[in-house]
Amino acid sequence: MLELSDTTIGLCYLVASVLFILSLKGLSSAKTSNAGSLYGIIGMAIAVGATVFSPSVLSYTEILAALVAGGFVGTVIALRIDMTALPQLMAGFHSLVGLAAVFVAAAAFSNPEPFGIGSIGNIHTGSLVEMSLGIAIGAVTFTGSIIAFGKLQGFISGKPVTYPLQHPLNALLGAAMVGLIVSFAMTGSETTLVAITAIALLLGILLIIPIGGADMPVIVSMLNSYSGWAAAGIGFTLNNHLLIITGALVGSSGAILSYIMCKGMNRSFINVLLGGFGGDDAAASAGGSSSGEQKPHKAGSAEDAAFILQNAESVIIVPGYGMAVAQAQHALREMTDVLRESGTKVRFAIHPVAGRMPGHMNVLLAEANVPYEDVLELEDINRDFPTTDVAFVIGANDVTNPLAKTDPASPIYGMPILDVENAKTVLFVKRSLSPGYAGVDNEVFYRENTMMLFGDAKKMCEDIIKAVEG
Ligand code: NDP
Repeated sequence: MLELSDTTIGLCYLVASVLFILSLKGLSSAKTSNAGSLYGIIGMAIAVGATVFSPSVLSYTEILAALVAGGFVGTVIALRIDMTALPQLMAGFHSLVGLAAVFVAAAAFSNPEPFGIGSIGNIHTGSLVEMSLGIAIGAVTFTGSIIAFGKLQGFISGKPVTYPLQHPLNALLGAAMVGLIVSFAMTGSETTLVAITAIALLLGILLIIPIGGADMPVIVSMLNSYSGWAAAGIGFTLNNHLLIITGALVGSSGAILSYIMCKGMNRSFINVLLGGFGGDDAAASAGGSSSGEQKPHKAGSAEDAAFILQNAESVIIVPGYGMAVAQAQHALREMTDVLRESGTKVRFAIHPVAGRMPGHMNVLLAEANVPYEDVLELEDINRDFPTTDVAFVIGANDVTNPLAKTDPASPIYGMPILDVENAKTVLFVKRSLSPGYAGVDNEVFYRENTMMLFGDAKKMCEDIIKAVEG
């Protein structure tokens, strides 16, 4: 079997690291994202190849078995997964990274010689610190990601779960863990390592369970960051520079993304971490009026919408999660083409957390060949609603809810929204008056200038096209 020298492996790792950095740079813009993905794939192929052909590999049987089994499961999942389920898939994968960190650290502790970190009962202090940090971050990532997966998949309530003395309890557990890590670094005791793991597993659950509503996107990207730091921790234990660099890239880019999302959502990063934003009130205000009766609203047909859109000079389209569910992006693009042919100015407004993952709407619109220059971010287009004839909201809900500005008890309070209600007419395409992800009723449905277009987003666009052309 081919065996690469240490110098060649070091060089390969360097090239892979540079490609990962270029990949991150490429992925930061829709125009360059294809190149970004390609750099990442090439970088990962080089990294895996260099690792597999390193002289320290003693047997290929287990490696091949793991590659085939993991590759098969990963391929099947990737082929089958709906794009709307990507956040929970990411959470699921992050949990595996956390678990891997725990296993590697446990393996290094029980058999330190092959790792070059000392002998049983006599492990270097620095390695004990790395090991305990790797286990702690890995275990928090593991259980935290499982809870996030359950919330996003709907296995457990997506609402914030709060209880008395929640923050003092978390602080106490955090302090206990720091104390145990210090003690472990001094004694190398197995019992202490088990205690660190148990507390970290519990802390992962307790940290994520109080988070819900509009804060979930931040948590998904934060768990992404944790999984990066866990991988970097494994890199220290394994003395693998590429893993340290890659882990640090994932860790820091995840942290930066979380920060940007917090800024976009008008949230304090620390507050999101502490969790539990007013979820109880969300339940009370969800699902139309509190008495269960439907509030008065205006409903229209595709023909009505076609008439209004044809007579509009300017239209802003606000896509949301429902557009992704219905896979309506292609029909929507066709609809905009038809409207443009009759001289209407059509643009798209993207909210930073529309859909179920960062950049969700941008990806779908790019897939449907919507020109990038027609797709504008919230801060660039919000001021244009008052001078716009029609806001066409398709499958979006929370990101247009003005309660975010007025109700401090709402779980979306403080989140900036797209001010669609300021347009002359608002057309809402959705199947019912049900609330969105945060479970909060949207008063724009009942406004004088709003017309509800009940139905599946894709079918509605197709019907509007027919009506315009007819
Ligand atoms: P929302 O979840 O607020 O609303 C989506 C709406 O789409 C629903 O009200 C639903 O109404 C409608 N819908 C569903 N299926 C269809 C369909 N086939 N055709 C037409 N309409 C449909 O979505 P938004 O994009 O406005 O907001 C995103 C929310 O998700 C925010 O609260 C955000 O915090 C959260 N979130 C975002 C993440 C991210 O990273 N972007 C990650 C996790 C959560 P109806 O049932 O009546 O059709």
